[in-house]
Amino acid sequence: MSEQHRASGVAGEALAHLPPDFVVTRPRRRDLWDTVLGMLDDVAERINLDPGIHAILRQPERELTVAVPVRMDDGPIRVFTGYRIQHSSARGPCKGGIRYHPAVCPNEVRALAALMTWKCAVVGIPYGGAKGGVQCDPKQMSREEICRLTRRFTSMIMPILGPRRDIPAPDVNTDAQIMAWIADTVCMLQNVATMEIVTGKPVSLGGSQGRKEATGRGVALITTELLKRQRRRLSETTVAIQGYGNVGSAAAKILNQLGCRVVAVSDISGGLYAPGGLEINAIDRHVDSHPGRLLEGFHAPGVDRISNHELLTSKVDVLIPAALEHQIHADNAPQVQATMVVEAANGPTTPEADKVLHDRGIVVVPDILANAGGVVVSYFEWVQNMQCFFWEEAEVNRHLKRIMVQAFQRVWELSERHHVPLRLGAYMLAVGEVANAVQTRGIFP
Ligand code: NAD
Repeated sequence: MSEQHRASGVAGEALAHLPPDFVVTRPRRRDLWDTVLGMLDDVAERINLDPGIHAILRQPERELTVAVPVRMDDGPIRVFTGYRIQHSSARGPCKGGIRYHPAVCPNEVRALAALMTWKCAVVGIPYGGAKGGVQCDPKQMSREEICRLTRRFTSMIMPILGPRRDIPAPDVNTDAQIMAWIADTVCMLQNVATMEIVTGKPVSLGGSQGRKEATGRGVALITTELLKRQRRRLSETTVAIQGYGNVGSAAAKILNQLGCRVVAVSDISGGLYAPGGLEINAIDRHVDSHPGRLLEGFHAPGVDRISNHELLTSKVDVLIPAALEHQIHADNAPQVQATMVVEAANGPTTPEADKVLHDRGIVVVPDILANAGGVVVSYFEWVQNMQCFFWEEAEVNRHLKRIMVQAFQRVWELSERHHVPLRLGAYMLAVGEVANAVQTRGIFP
């Protein structure tokens, strides 16, 4: 094993067959990219992946870094760094969200792009994987500044975007309005109506019914399937959700409607806990009227304030991390009391924590399966845009349910057949599908 591999903790044996120049240079601190590559290397060995295809999948196909100047409201110019990284287009056009966050960096975007490749393969939709982001703190910026940032960033990554090339969508701190600005920028610069360049748009501009709640709905569908396999009733199940944004709040609402008791939720401002179950509608009203869309300041009888650590280790049946990556780590994993973890966020569990949870008998449904509902309905939005024919919400939700339940069944059965945890099963399925596409297409030229 080379020093570089040892430092990053990547399985040396899995890399032994790769020429050294196939290996991406990485920083010494373990991050989400290390986690994602570590999973790929592990799976490559298990499924006896062709070394050449393994080498292809260890590197993003294309990376674009841009310097984005923005005139701030009070006069000065600030330059933000933005990225669009396409991991694989083997199974179709690249697809993936755009994140605005201070922690955005190349390795985070690479990892999230690769997760998109695996996610689209797990649920069997005809896309590859990409991700984008701008390192910025949108909480400190006005809406006008965010609009100017979005339009300039879009113009700079536009050469690699396109409805048959790469289609962005919302992620952390980006929303339907920001997607509308991206689409409008491309339409203006290309002088064509091409709203299908992004998904997650407002419904009035060609967005799909059901897209806003789709990731949370998918999380709820997967939780329901897991509970069935565990012979548990929804009405007897308690749930804690970390992160009360687009994904976490929709998952809370739908699981609550299905009869689960959502006893704890949290966001960046801290958490709320009520052993008898939280009033999700009241919490939603509070968040909607809060300027930062936060739980901060919510009070109700029987509801206690808790920290994010207390939420992650609270005594519940199902824990749903729906905030950011690496929230469940070696230090808090031994204290997790849930018996099931459904990963709504991307990469919320470190590999060390994953092992601790597995050894403790806690079932983990991996991100690439659990949170795929968003990209599935993004795919429906793209299909509707390409056909200029729009579906009703009931139809969207019916197809979403069919795809999520089928994917869960495939992953569950493959995991049982190979006696591996669900994460490994999902990766074996996904990597196998992508490798097959690469192999069948052949290496150009
Ligand atoms: P969002 O910005 O709408 O919400 C993020 C939430 O997490 C907010 O409530 C924020 O306060 C909270 N949060 C941030 N840091 C936290 C911390 N340290 N502790 C506790 N809470 C914290 O983002 P989102 O779109 O809901 O995305 C959440 C996660 O789901 C991300 O990992 C994202 O990549 C993933 N995801 C999103 C989608 C989608 O359709 N939006 C699809 C698939 C996966």
